[in-house]
Amino acid sequence: MELDNHAEDLASDLGVDKEEVKADLQNLVEYSVPIDEAKQSLRRKYGDGSSGGGGAPSSKDIGDITPEDGNVTVTGVVLTAGKRSIRYQGDDLEIVEGRLADETGVIDYTSWEDFGLSPGDTITAGNAGVREWDGEPELNLGESTSLSFEDESFDVDYEIGGEAQLADLQTGDRAVTVEVTVVDCERRTIDGRDGETEILSGVFGDESGRLPFTNWDPVPAIEDGGTIRIENAFVQEFRGVPEVNVSEFSTVSAIDREIDVGADATTMDVGEAVHTGGIYDVEVNGNVIAVRDGSGLIQRCPECYRVIQKGQCRTHGSVDGVDDLRVKAILDDGTGAVTVVLDDELTQQVYDGTLEDALEQAREAMDQEVVADTIRERIVGREYRVRGHLSVDEYGANLDAEDFEESGDDPEARASAFLTEVDA
Ligand SMILES: [Zn+2]
Repeated sequence: MELDNHAEDLASDLGVDKEEVKADLQNLVEYSVPIDEAKQSLRRKYGDGSSGGGGAPSSKDIGDITPEDGNVTVTGVVLTAGKRSIRYQGDDLEIVEGRLADETGVIDYTSWEDFGLSPGDTITAGNAGVREWDGEPELNLGESTSLSFEDESFDVDYEIGGEAQLADLQTGDRAVTVEVTVVDCERRTIDGRDGETEILSGVFGDESGRLPFTNWDPVPAIEDGGTIRIENAFVQEFRGVPEVNVSEFSTVSAIDREIDVGADATTMDVGEAVHTGGIYDVEVNGNVIAVRDGSGLIQRCPECYRVIQKGQCRTHGSVDGVDDLRVKAILDDGTGAVTVVLDDELTQQVYDGTLEDALEQAREAMDQEVVADTIRERIVGREYRVRGHLSVDEYGANLDAEDFEESGDDPEARASAFLTEVDA
């Protein structure tokens, strides 16, 4: 390597002027200092971040960046770049989020300045901040970042652009592109950050599955239904499951293509499903090991529809409760447990009776717990296949059931097998 190249490497590593470094290098080499030693010496002089001396950030491969790095200089290919508006300390800010990759790895970034990044650009971000998000390092590009576009690029093992299938989307994904069918859509009025505003919410589907969405700035192509391509959407968690967010910066266009919405939910072990932290439309299979309190015949607040205790709503005080049916059953498959919540319809199925029947049974027994007891006798110890929406919070994992079916061909054999297991 020529002196010029060494100087260029060093200058970019150390974030200092190339001519200055070259002059220093020249000087040392003329005194017969080996080039490697000369470079080491200059790193010490200019303060390589890795020596703990502060100063200019060190140049790093993306795969080597850790949350402990303060500031780094990186060169990478922009995979995605999605604009989004956020409220930050009272102001509306436009930020750009996406992913940056090199030959060693990939990293999420947030850009607080509009550098004009587009997918496919190769950039060097000098003095990019590193912060930790969910245990992983992320880059912050801001005022103090010097950003330059490179002419020469390199191959990365990641797809440029944010094309994705719904089943692959995860909370936190930015600048995604999906082609979907609008399965379900409704217009709602919400109390937004600038007062009342109308939004669309519903469910998108593609070959891989379904996910709920919110469209913050109603787009006719979504409201009209049909098949659409959405660019620059982002994914955030809502009620414990990932949700596709279509914002004012997203591009929505109708496309002329049939999409067969996958009818099959993803089937997982309970443990695996809980580990995802929340998943829309999942199927699990396990044994009902208990029916929890608050099941069977219950009363809800007429105002907020939450379950009330002894005529008292936590928010609305003493209220005239509305009778309802539900089940909260603990389902276990050996890998984990989840609370399966059955709505009134599914509860009627497992109870094998209506709300009227339940009220009558409770009146006769002068105890509404008999309804839960009846359900308990029917389902505890049996194996069920449950499909629904899984959310996980600090109180545990809940699976809002859409389907709740006894599984297997021979329930009797399984029940005795289960009992043998319990006995053992
Ligand atoms: Zn209430």
